[in-house]
Amino acid sequence: MSTMDNRTGDGTRAVRAGLPDPVAYEPTLPGPVFAAHYHLPGEPTGPYTYGRDENPTWTHLERAIGELEAPEETGVETVVFASGMAAVSAVLLSQTRAGDTVVLPSDGYQALALVREQLEAYDVRVRTAPTGGDAQLGVLDGARLLWIETPSNPGLDVCDVRRLADAAHAAGALVAVDNTLATPLGQRPLELGADFSVASGTKGLTGHGDVLLGYVTCRDAELAARVRRWRKVVGAIPGPMEAWLAHRSLATLQLRADKQGANALALAEALREHRAVSGLRHPGLPGDPSYTVASRQMRRFGSVVSFTLPDRGYAERFLGGLRLAEEATSFGGVRSTAERRARWGGDAVPEGFVRFSVGAEDPEDLVADVLRALDAAAP
Ligand SMILES: *Cc1c(COP(=O)(O)O)cnc(C)c1O
Repeated sequence: MSTMDNRTGDGTRAVRAGLPDPVAYEPTLPGPVFAAHYHLPGEPTGPYTYGRDENPTWTHLERAIGELEAPEETGVETVVFASGMAAVSAVLLSQTRAGDTVVLPSDGYQALALVREQLEAYDVRVRTAPTGGDAQLGVLDGARLLWIETPSNPGLDVCDVRRLADAAHAAGALVAVDNTLATPLGQRPLELGADFSVASGTKGLTGHGDVLLGYVTCRDAELAARVRRWRKVVGAIPGPMEAWLAHRSLATLQLRADKQGANALALAEALREHRAVSGLRHPGLPGDPSYTVASRQMRRFGSVVSFTLPDRGYAERFLGGLRLAEEATSFGGVRSTAERRARWGGDAVPEGFVRFSVGAEDPEDLVADVLRALDAAAP
């Protein structure tokens, strides 16, 4: 394993994360290993036996993500998955049994509602409360697992992870945090007391809009073993090419997170006084309802800005008029994207609600384009 000094800065850690010890005449980051099976004479012991169980390209990526999620902790293990939802489901379905109670956010990622249906079909009881105001504290009694999503997608509310984790542990519950929006450079849930940090690597972690990936970083080997077993049972494994692309993308994570975060703040500031904009949210914007808690527990605030335009038509004209941001879902990519979130029907948001994912363009260009498109969209 590469010997990373825990005290390095985020940029140093990002470019070196998960690299194996140098081997003469081999690449710094070994290429993807394409293998359904490995030479396996005699007793079938690992580390590499069959391609659904383990792959060296995953191993490097898992070490890299673990170094970023929990640079100061030992015993932490990461398991990579084919998508964020594969990782989310792996935790929720592998850690609960019929009769258990799970607490979910009522305002989390929209596919959580589908997982809820699945849990309930297996006789797992589900309670929900909003992310903001640490409202999940009120429904923890008797819970087996608390699921936190902060900042929440798409509303960008933030809760106090440490406070919720302490209360959940006191009540005997495990704690998982969806760290998709923040990325490990934005927040480290395990340091804030969580047992699992779970994320979609499809978004800001890989940042180029060309890979689906998920991961679970677990506090200890016992929790990780259950998650790993779930991956084997369900087979929700990433392809080696995707895993390698993700690892390659980590080298620029700090550059992207800093640049896109600064751009997001610049855009939020430019929108603050605009007469067509209401409900403007970005956790790094001073005065935002999330700002105080976010400043305490986050190291970077993410690249998403959300706001509401007067109605559906206004939002559609705005999105159609943008030249530097494509109308698309997902977020965290180097090219700005935006969408009218209500078009999916899954989130409790107004018809004119826009989730804007801020890319790595020059901020003057992006802000000018957004302000021009807003004015052009006015009725
Ligand atoms: C996108 C997303 C997911 C699901 O990730 P996929 O890679 O699309 O499966 C889970 N949680 C949050 C907060 C997300 O934004």
